Amino acid sequence: MITTQTRPSISVALVYPNVFRVGMGNLGFQFVYSRLNAHPLFSAERFFVSDASDRKGRSDRGPLSKESGRTLRDFQAIAFSVPFENDYPAIPGALLAAGIPSLQADRGPDDPLVIAGGVSVSMNPEPLAPFLDMAYIGELDDESTEPALFSMLAQAFEESGTNRDRAQVLARFRDVPGAYVPSAYRFDHDATGLIRGIEVAPGFPSRVTAVKRRSAKASVPVSVLFSPEAEFGESLLIETNRGCARGCRFCASGWMHQPVRHVEFNRFRNDVDSAIRDGRTVGLIGSDLAGHPDLEEILTYITDRGGRFSLSSIRPEGLSSSIIELIARTGQKTATLAPETASPEMKRIIGKNIPSERFYELVERLVAAGIPNIRFYFMVGFPAETDNDAQAIVEFCLESRRLFVDASRPQKKIGKIAVQLNPFVPKPWTPFQWAAMASEKVLRKRIKIVREGLRKVPNLVVRAESVREATAQGVLSRGDRRLAALLLRVAEQHGRWSGIFRSNPDLPEFYAHRERSQHEIFPWDVVDHGVSKDTLRKVFVKSMGTGLVREVLGKHTDNE
Ligand code: SF4
Repeated sequence: MITTQTRPSISVALVYPNVFRVGMGNLGFQFVYSRLNAHPLFSAERFFVSDASDRKGRSDRGPLSKESGRTLRDFQAIAFSVPFENDYPAIPGALLAAGIPSLQADRGPDDPLVIAGGVSVSMNPEPLAPFLDMAYIGELDDESTEPALFSMLAQAFEESGTNRDRAQVLARFRDVPGAYVPSAYRFDHDATGLIRGIEVAPGFPSRVTAVKRRSAKASVPVSVLFSPEAEFGESLLIETNRGCARGCRFCASGWMHQPVRHVEFNRFRNDVDSAIRDGRTVGLIGSDLAGHPDLEEILTYITDRGGRFSLSSIRPEGLSSSIIELIARTGQKTATLAPETASPEMKRIIGKNIPSERFYELVERLVAAGIPNIRFYFMVGFPAETDNDAQAIVEFCLESRRLFVDASRPQKKIGKIAVQLNPFVPKPWTPFQWAAMASEKVLRKRIKIVREGLRKVPNLVVRAESVREATAQGVLSRGDRRLAALLLRVAEQHGRWSGIFRSNPDLPEFYAHRERSQHEIFPWDVVDHGVSKDTLRKVFVKSMGTGLVREVLGKHTDNE
């Protein structure tokens, strides 16, 4: 337990709805922690949803703060930092365990304010709406909107502490950039369950514009707390860019975080220096590391000073000979490549049209440079996908493995190829937001094709994400506030989804496996990430045209 300096301030319980190891490795969570504690009016303490082995982190009053051992009830505000949909059940779960009414409508003037932010909440806050007083949409930006948000939060906490009406307190957030107050929005549904209209309380915006860090002077997300038990150990994580211009049609990070913003090396050179001094690995985080204009300079700077770095993932075009050499010099043992799919047709449909030969060549060069292991990321269940596309993954992996073994021989040691298969989950704010998610049956079949095709291949392992978990993610990603009862049930089952869809078979059908019609109103239409529905629709239609031509003619017409 860490004890922080006591000061007269507004106490915020900052909760990561997963275990310590995962939460401490999340840079977004660490950034909010540092921003709150840098403010003279706030004092934030960390909470994690404990696993069974963490006896110190839990009590019969719910999770306990890492800093002072207090419960959620002891704080004026509770802020959940939520990057992934599968962690949603832990939010009502943590509130209930602490004796706080999980539903916003049931909370009284003495209950804490409950807020959530993070990537999945920004993408679509609606599945969590009944639990929240406010959702924060977008990024924290101390150079533009953060002061308004923090000063309004400070006022709200003071007022909620004086038994003011909660609705009146929340009404003051209507002009705060990024603040979405769910209770101010009423969704009207037709008999089939589709949204007919959204009624917005007077004075609130019809859509909340996501905040984006645009100023070159804005604080850079850098980890401030270290633990050997964290997912990335005691590495210093730095967010070096946001967004990616490649436009893969399934990728929310690429579309939502436009425009692409790279942080100049000079803005975090001192952090790199202190990491090298402290013997920490520098973990560079960003969806477009390949496009960072200073990448080679940064990596050379670190290695020349005897430091180590790791890269979150990097597109093939970023892996120049000099970058590969630098990766090898830093002692990195595994390189991660994300082809996502293998057949030329499917590459065009998903908009990640990188020829397999490019990956083959990279496998050879990475291994020859002394990086013994390769990890491949693939997805199955894309729109218009067939069994042949899964078979193409098998063939891609066999060819990669053949080249991998040949390239390993001169090294006199052979590593491993790890093939990770993830079911494709359609996400809001992508061109595939209209697409149907593949059924569990289809997903299992495609995974089986890959598994069987690669069974007993030496030096190669296949791992697949749980299809059930992916379906749950599919329901929640494009879900709405009517899912509150389901989340409460999963919370009662301590996060287990078993049996949930058996008793509610219509839910996955409605939320995940249904292709949405062109003009359907989405629950996430209440937020705005700066990319129009028209643009996304045009790209979706183009993709599906590609798929349709393929189905009708049995071959692909190159229309890109
Ligand atoms: S290259 Fe990667 S980060 Fe960029 S859009 Fe494609 S999947 Fe997303």
